[in-house]
Amino acid sequence: MRTFDGIYAAGGWHPSRGGRIEVTSPATGEVLGFVSEATPDEVASAVESARSALQGEWSTSSPADRAAALGRLADALEARSREFADLLSAEVGTPRRSATFVHVMATVGVLRAYQKIGADYTFEDIRPSMTGGAVLVRQLPVGVVGAILPWNAPLFTGALKIGPALAAGCTMVLKPSPEAPLAVSLFAEVVEQADLPPGVINIVSGNAATGEALVTHPGVDKISFTGSTAVGTHIGALCAADVRRYTLELGGKSAAIVLDDVELDATIINGLVNGVMGNNGQVCVSRSRILAPRSRYDEIVDALAAAVGALTVGDPAERSTDVGPLINRSARDRVERYVRQAVADGARVVVGGVRPDGFDSGWYVAPTVLADVDNTMSIARDELFGPVVVVIPYEDEDEAVSLANDSDYGLAGAVWSADTTRASRVAERLRVGTVSVNAASPLDYGAPFGGFKKSGVGREGGPEGLAPFLEAQSIIR
Ligand code: NAD
Repeated sequence: MRTFDGIYAAGGWHPSRGGRIEVTSPATGEVLGFVSEATPDEVASAVESARSALQGEWSTSSPADRAAALGRLADALEARSREFADLLSAEVGTPRRSATFVHVMATVGVLRAYQKIGADYTFEDIRPSMTGGAVLVRQLPVGVVGAILPWNAPLFTGALKIGPALAAGCTMVLKPSPEAPLAVSLFAEVVEQADLPPGVINIVSGNAATGEALVTHPGVDKISFTGSTAVGTHIGALCAADVRRYTLELGGKSAAIVLDDVELDATIINGLVNGVMGNNGQVCVSRSRILAPRSRYDEIVDALAAAVGALTVGDPAERSTDVGPLINRSARDRVERYVRQAVADGARVVVGGVRPDGFDSGWYVAPTVLADVDNTMSIARDELFGPVVVVIPYEDEDEAVSLANDSDYGLAGAVWSADTTRASRVAERLRVGTVSVNAASPLDYGAPFGGFKKSGVGREGGPEGLAPFLEAQSIIR
């Protein structure tokens, strides 16, 4: 049981007058711990703490000092990777077998990437003036950052904000999701072990009201939000009203295109299946629309059905588990509703589609393959966040590209082919932020990551992910 009472600000925990949020296991319903629901006044205290740290010793730190601080954070977290992986597996439901890599080492990787990016970044340069003389261009920290996090990858999405914010010289208030706030709260200990100046990182837990108090607080200079498109749209509007800077990392409905020359070996099938089933189907970059050439449609559906049908559904704590539960009842019910609607619309259940047997508790959905799906069906248009693969047929390469791009979203994509040059050519035609070619990994820490269209505004990752935490100032002399 983990209990984090109060808010973490100015280097310590302070009692809260808000309510208590109970955090339960999505697998068993067991209570895993509690956090406080920070009130608007307490959010204001956390913002003040971040503001005074921004003006304190942190303001005179060099890029090298800040890079070193990020390195210490990465080291301290890595040293506790088992403990954090256990906790994240318990609160998110991620199979324990993959939780160390998916949650903890990915977080460490992002912090180390920003250690290097921050150390190498040009924060000041002198340019010849167009009118004679010179211009000093300075990249200053944007200020106090409010970072609002989703439940599906709390630490990793946090690192994509902590890394660039700290490298830039900003200070932060983190707001984890009420569904999975425990690992982010425990991260306060890592912050202390890494010897960060008090107030550089502050943490407030809570629901939408706590998040909104952070978004609208006049002491916050920038909001960096990861979550749903619906909430992101609202937050963007609130920020725009105050001309506050913001970055939005939102949902997706990404496609994996299988080209007609593909050799259906285990690497490709596993790549396609893992591209959907990772974190129990609850990842923003899920490539859940598989576009298959009509000439090879049945063969591809059969291969996917065999692989998905062989996945072991179970308690995330068990090492044999491939797919665990969804985060809560409403997520489970929503996925079931979408599958029922797809069947009513003409889709064919090849595997799964039912609640798996043998579970008295937990929000389980059987890993599912749906064939004969049309790209206009709601299951092909809306983000599902569940272990469901839909296979959509196409006639030729042009149609595959047009189906992949026919989405309100534009976060990620994949192309699989025997010919990497051909696959890369197809990848370049996709209107999405990241495409993997003959590879399962949906992102690279050194490169920008983010969405076209309703998948977001701005980028995280790489030097491009540092720029939104900076304000440029020109001194003409
Ligand atoms: P969500 O939008 O429901 O909540 C995200 C966060 O916003 C939570 O901390 C929540 O408490 C807070 N929040 C809710 N209403 C708010 C308000 N009015 N003002 C301020 N804060 C508010 O999302 P979720 O269910 O936690 O996460 C799943 C979503 O996140 C999916 O859509 C997924 O695609 C997306 N996601 C995107 C990325 C990416 O990098 N693009 C990464 C991970 C998850």
